[in-house]
Amino acid sequence: MQVILVGLPGAGKGTQAERIKTEFGIPHISTGDMFRSAVASGSELGRQLKAFLDSGRLVPDETTIAVVRERLQQDDAKDGFLLDGFPRTLEQAHALDSMLSELDRPLDVVLYIHVDPSVLLARLTGRRICKSCGATYHTVFQPPKVEGVCDIDGGELYQRADDTPEAVSTRLEQFKQTAPLIDYYEQRGVLRRIDGEQSIDQVHRDVLSALAPFAR
Ligand SMILES: [Zn+2]
Repeated sequence: MQVILVGLPGAGKGTQAERIKTEFGIPHISTGDMFRSAVASGSELGRQLKAFLDSGRLVPDETTIAVVRERLQQDDAKDGFLLDGFPRTLEQAHALDSMLSELDRPLDVVLYIHVDPSVLLARLTGRRICKSCGATYHTVFQPPKVEGVCDIDGGELYQRADDTPEAVSTRLEQFKQTAPLIDYYEQRGVLRRIDGEQSIDQVHRDVLSALAPFAR
């Protein structure tokens, strides 16, 4: 089962990815993890990659594709994979397609967990975390009993730098660049749109029915 997971930050991709991984026994492959393990392996490819990452330059598509190819051929991915964070551009999608057809492992589904950006903004910017125990709260959906104070241990609540309205807006802007990608997979007939504004369990049920035809 060859699956790609797409969605805005905060759409609940991580939670669903964990469940898919458990349910279908396929690895959850994110670009970040893949890059880290390629660098750690010390291979020729890993060294090239490290040079790009260290210099802060954008990793070129051909290097990313080579890393993905290496990862998809590892043992745990022989029955399938769940790709997360890749591809991001149309060029990468084309490159991935030709690589997958070379490996004779065509893409089955692209799961697009869709949440309205205004809903995401509210979800993410309201998030607060306890400094001492890490418990998470939400100013609107799950407020602590006393504002700014953890219910469990009285710790101080803070907002992650990633969750400020400015940071969230930047992340949402970046995601807009993936719109052509969504269109491309839609035209190919592999896109399954999942309503990410439902409860986590309902989202999961929809994910399961989208994947069911491809499970072995
Ligand atoms: Zn706490």
